[in-house]
Order: sequence, then structure tokens, then C-alpha cells
Amino acid sequence: MKNYNIKADIHSFESFAALDGDGIRYGVFFTGCPLRCVYCHNPDTWKNSGREMSAEEIYKKVRRYKPYFKDKGGVTFTGGEPLLNADFICECASLLKNDGINYAVDTSGCVELSESVKKAVSDAELIILDLKFPNENSYKKYTGGDFEKFRNFALFCSESAKRLWLRTVIVPGINDSEEKLSEYAKFAKTLKFEKYELLGFHTMGFFKYEKLGIENPLNQTAPLEEEKLKELQKYLNTLI
Ligand code: SF4
Repeated sequence: MKNYNIKADIHSFESFAALDGDGIRYGVFFTGCPLRCVYCHNPDTWKNSGREMSAEEIYKKVRRYKPYFKDKGGVTFTGGEPLLNADFICECASLLKNDGINYAVDTSGCVELSESVKKAVSDAELIILDLKFPNENSYKKYTGGDFEKFRNFALFCSESAKRLWLRTVIVPGINDSEEKLSEYAKFAKTLKFEKYELLGFHTMGFFKYEKLGIENPLNQTAPLEEEKLKELQKYLNTLI
């Protein structure tokens, strides 16, 4: 019998998560993230929680929800950056697969393409990839990350993921214009993807910055209006 020795620091779980993937999802939120996106609504995932778990422990929690997954549902690994724990995800994946449960990975994509990252991506039913900013300067400025690293990852997903969704958070005053969207579309068109969805910036995570005593770089920014989001999505759809 295989031993599942790797442990990962887990922030939280969310049962019946309807957003991140198809059907009913069970969300596993990892701690740790290489980025510091200005619009992050989960800064509480940046540091370890101290709750270390094994793949078997995760699987035991997940399997209770199996009856709800039906055909499409399953597990979504998210965070933080789940692929910082790619070996661990691969261990979870073998347990889930034996039980006929699929998994999705919701990632920033700003990670090294190690063998375990490649495996975690290739075996996933779905990769949900944040296309945060479409060029080196804005990527660096608003996330602190390396655009080349992201681009390599995105190209790998385009070739090797079973299915790929792209997502971009639209922030008033930063990327909420048709001109900016044209740049995103240009980059997106270098990839093979199934769906490209815009998400509106919101302020629901602001209280976390206060609680953690972390400076919130967008504390003067209002949420993106629903109508504006719809308009921009419509425009983007004409470009891709
Ligand atoms: S990648 Fe996600 S968790 Fe990390 S800083 Fe950006 S928004 Fe926050």
C-alpha cells in the first residue's frame, strides 16, 4: 500500500463551491503565493495557516461529497497558489482518480514548469488560468511576478491541458478599457482555450487587509459596476 508522506499547508475548504469549474465543486484552498496582486481578495492565504494535511486526509474529506458531484462536479485546487504544492496535488489526484473524482486547478500560472507541475496540469480535467496582465510591465507592476514565467506556463497549458479557461479581473482605472482588452485578446489568441471570462473587481476582501494589518493598495478603488463588466465581456467576445 502506498504511503502518502507529503503534507501541504491548507488554508480552508469550501463545499458546494459553484464558481470555480463545472458542476458542484469542493474547493481546497492552499496557503502560499508567489504573487502580490494589487486586487487580491485572499491576502489571508499568503502565510501558512499551520494546518498541515496529507493527501489521504484531503481525500477523506472530499469523498463525502462525491454523491453531489454527479457527472461534472469534482475538486478544485485553489488558493493562494495551488501549484506550489504540485507533488501533493499529484498524490491527491491518484486517490481521487481511483474513486472516479475529477479535479480542476485554479492558478495564477506564475510557477516554474517542473515535472510535477506539468503532471498536475496534464492530469487535471480543467485548468482555470488567471491572465492577470498581458505584458511584462503591467504584470510586474500589479502582481510583482515574472511575465515570462507566466507565458511559458500558459503556452504549456495551451498544448497540454485537457481543457483551459482564462480569467481576468477587471479593475476600475487599471484595465477597464477597450484598448486594454485588445491587448489581453491579442495574448489570449496565442493560446487554445475553451472560455475566457472577465471578473469584476470587488471590495469584499478589504476587511482581511485591515484584520491582517496589511496595506491595501486599492483601498480607494470602487467595485467594478456590473453593467460595465457585461459591456467589456461583450467587447472581448468580439475579439477572440
Ligand atoms: S495570485 Fe491570487 S492569491 Fe496570489 S496574490 Fe494574486 S490574487 Fe492573491
